[in-house]
Amino acid sequence: MSTPITVAYGDGIGPEIMEATLHVLREAGAQIKIETIEVGERIYNQGASSGILPSAWETLRRNKVLLKAPITTPQGKGYKSLNVTMRKALGLYANIRPTQAYHPFVKTNHPKMDLVIVRENEEDLYAGIEYHQSHDVYESVKLITKSGSERIIRYAFEYAVQNNRKKITCMSKDNIMKISDGMFHNTFETMAKEYPQIAIDHYIIDIGAARIASRPEIFDVIVTENLYGDIISDIAADVSGSVGLAGSSNIGEDFAMFEAIHGSAPDISGQNIANPSGILQSAVMMMIHIGQSDIASTIHNAWLRTLEDGVHTPDIYRKEISKQKVGTKEFAEAVVKNLGNKPSSLPAVAYKKTERAKAAVKTGLAAATAKKELNGVDMYVCWTGDVNELGEKVQRLAEGELILKTLSNKGLKAWPEMDTSGMHLTDQFRCRFRVPNGQTTTHGAITALLDRAQKAGLDFTKAENLYFFDGVAGYTLSQGQ
Ligand code: NAD
Repeated sequence: MSTPITVAYGDGIGPEIMEATLHVLREAGAQIKIETIEVGERIYNQGASSGILPSAWETLRRNKVLLKAPITTPQGKGYKSLNVTMRKALGLYANIRPTQAYHPFVKTNHPKMDLVIVRENEEDLYAGIEYHQSHDVYESVKLITKSGSERIIRYAFEYAVQNNRKKITCMSKDNIMKISDGMFHNTFETMAKEYPQIAIDHYIIDIGAARIASRPEIFDVIVTENLYGDIISDIAADVSGSVGLAGSSNIGEDFAMFEAIHGSAPDISGQNIANPSGILQSAVMMMIHIGQSDIASTIHNAWLRTLEDGVHTPDIYRKEISKQKVGTKEFAEAVVKNLGNKPSSLPAVAYKKTERAKAAVKTGLAAATAKKELNGVDMYVCWTGDVNELGEKVQRLAEGELILKTLSNKGLKAWPEMDTSGMHLTDQFRCRFRVPNGQTTTHGAITALLDRAQKAGLDFTKAENLYFFDGVAGYTLSQGQ
């Protein structure tokens, strides 16, 4: 029985590499029924700022599986990235990006490299929550949830088990972002106990990224947050040999999207020279996802054999190792001819049949079991005058148990008892009011405080409540406090 899938041909090199890929799929006997949608440049140019027409969503939701060629996102304000919209609208929370060296057939400095990045796909700075509330301060909120972290980390462990991987590395910046990245790292350590067969380690993201560039062979599976994952997966693809080689999957509970990691490459479009391997690898991942693992293996092995034969597109063609420089179509034809052949030196693949339901992990929200207590508020105030004057003004707002503890500026304590002469102060101060330890306050006390601030003529821009969870502060201290 054929599985219905949606196909988007995209822009730039998209149509060429998609046509080549569909040719290989057909010849390999893929049991798929293709429905095409149009997304990207032409739709943007018709005035749809999202890059997709409402009718296409119906097709996507019905078929649940999308094979998508790269699209061109127009520069400038007003256009939304279709990729980000799709990931969120279809709940595609896991972005899987395998990267491998094909030494000695594709030139690379890292012949043993074989890693998979499992990137959280919906949260973090990509939540797109941004503010401009004072003349000087621009803010993007990094939003990380416990349930989102559990889900992606669970996915990474399940992926490692299913794909016979031995180690997972978590990458975070929990030395600085102790609450958000700290929770991500802790969740990883806790969940790892359920998978004693998988070795684990953790890298701070900066040294982790450096090691991917210099010694990628030390990694197996890497799980990380959205922005870090975006950056390190491009580094990984580039050091493996060519950005044109890597495919990716975007997996959710109900939907999945498969695409190459590269863009629409307008510089080489229409010339029949683009490497179709990235989208072909994505199609292999799609075939596994829809339960046609045997065909996925056949295509992957034929592709490996073609690389071994030295039949190469210009991006990977090197005189010393390649035998024939070919175009996009001819490369696909060579893969078709190799269907049924296995690589003779690179390891052949034999994908297991995985149940589609197992590919995605269901988790609920973090349980509300901890005792949550309100014990203060951070009130943000726009101010360009003297710090001590602001301190005294704000202190007069304190009433009852709610005491002004500190003013801070860009996270650094600025008042009281701070010499700010060496600090580059911005025009927004955080005024922290707290009740003594062991006591709690109320929302009413906080709104009354804001009311007094308004009457005192202060331009407050936001208030963030301060909570304790089971006696542990749910906020960080100011630096220098
Ligand atoms: P790009 O990935 O399109 O191109 C970067 C370089 O790699 C270019 O020199 C290009 O020729 C080369 N290249 C890319 N794919 C190749 C292939 N298959 N074979 C041979 N060479 C290949 O990145 P870019 O130029 O920064 O972006 C171009 C457009 O693509 C932009 O509009 C961008 O927004 C979009 N984009 C789309 C996606 C997507 O749809 N998923 C992802 C990234 C970028």
